[in-house]
Amino acid sequence: MKICVLPGDGIGPEIMAEAVRVLKALDLKLDMEEALLGGCAIDAAKDPFPEATQKLAKEADAVLLGAVGGPQWDNNPRELRPERGLLRIRKDLGLFANLRPAILYPELANASTLKPEVVAGLDILIVRELTGDIYFGQPRGVEVREVDGLKQRYGFNTMHYTESEIRRIVRVAFDAARKRHRKVCSVDKMNVLECTQLWRDVATETAKEYPDVELSHMLVDNAAMQLVKNPKQFDVMVTGNMFGDILSDEASMLTGSIGMLPSASLDANNKGLYEPSHGSAPDIAGKGVANPLATILSAAMMLRYTFGNEAAAQRIEVAVKKVLAQGLRTGDIYEPGTTRVGTREMGDAVLAAL
Ligand code: NAD
Repeated sequence: MKICVLPGDGIGPEIMAEAVRVLKALDLKLDMEEALLGGCAIDAAKDPFPEATQKLAKEADAVLLGAVGGPQWDNNPRELRPERGLLRIRKDLGLFANLRPAILYPELANASTLKPEVVAGLDILIVRELTGDIYFGQPRGVEVREVDGLKQRYGFNTMHYTESEIRRIVRVAFDAARKRHRKVCSVDKMNVLECTQLWRDVATETAKEYPDVELSHMLVDNAAMQLVKNPKQFDVMVTGNMFGDILSDEASMLTGSIGMLPSASLDANNKGLYEPSHGSAPDIAGKGVANPLATILSAAMMLRYTFGNEAAAQRIEVAVKKVLAQGLRTGDIYEPGTTRVGTREMGDAVLAAL
């Protein structure tokens, strides 16, 4: 099992060091090799996604990423920005499925802005299509046109999906549901958008391949409401690129703790890029206070989705739960009455709990 490790910038190297320690402690014969991505790669090789990194990422079975970016590169030309490296690696690897769990551990229920009884114990997975939809559709643009007898600027985009694009992402959701509570809610806007009527039809057809998983449908406006009203009704939600962009951010904020949220982006063969949902947090970089748990939980997702090792994934997740139950907190999730620890101590505690 070959893993390409990309610590990146800011807090990236600090949180990645802890995830790597956790992976090593599992005794799984993992071959981990580090490379540069983002700002550090721009500094060293004048390219946010250098050739050596491209090669390693291609060869590896999975990529584990910290975070990229920082103010020192913000004024660079577009091609020399850290985020450019992120977009390129996602495209290079053909990652079309984005999996973002929103889990709220009961001990952290106060971190949410919602009432604890609404969110405590929340565990949902949002599966978002990443490479299609209105974000990539042609034609697109802003032109001056004569509309309603008036020459004016006219903006337009095109929403589109092929049935094969829909089927492959819906299958990812069903496969994920089989590892969870066997419920998929497909989100669309079929009452207004033909493209998403096709989405609903294909989801319904695909469900026949998964008789053991329950499929429901929901309009996106209702889904946005239900996520804040009664989020615990959901297990897996699957949706297109634009709706998924919005709903996954909404769902992650139900938990209120960005330092806890892992994510995965998969290709057609379950090769994946795994990373925390947060950024490089330049404001706390180098201070040893960043929360490493989102990255450690991303490593658990890697073991589950790319390496099919459910037992090892759960070992990590249970260890994280134990550490939270012990009352250990990094600054981002600290509240009075708990014990404040740094990045390294949090890693130590997870290792001990393993
Ligand atoms: P951010 O997620 O880096 O930080 C937002 C806030 O959350 C900050 O106060 C930060 O200190 C805190 N935070 C984030 N992760 C934390 C952790 N693990 N532990 C404790 N606190 C944590 O978002 P931002 O400030 O908008 O962006 C900073 C940089 O990160 C920018 O250069 C941005 O482009 C980049 N970024 C990268 C990614 C990525 O690599 N996937 C994603 C988002 C932003």
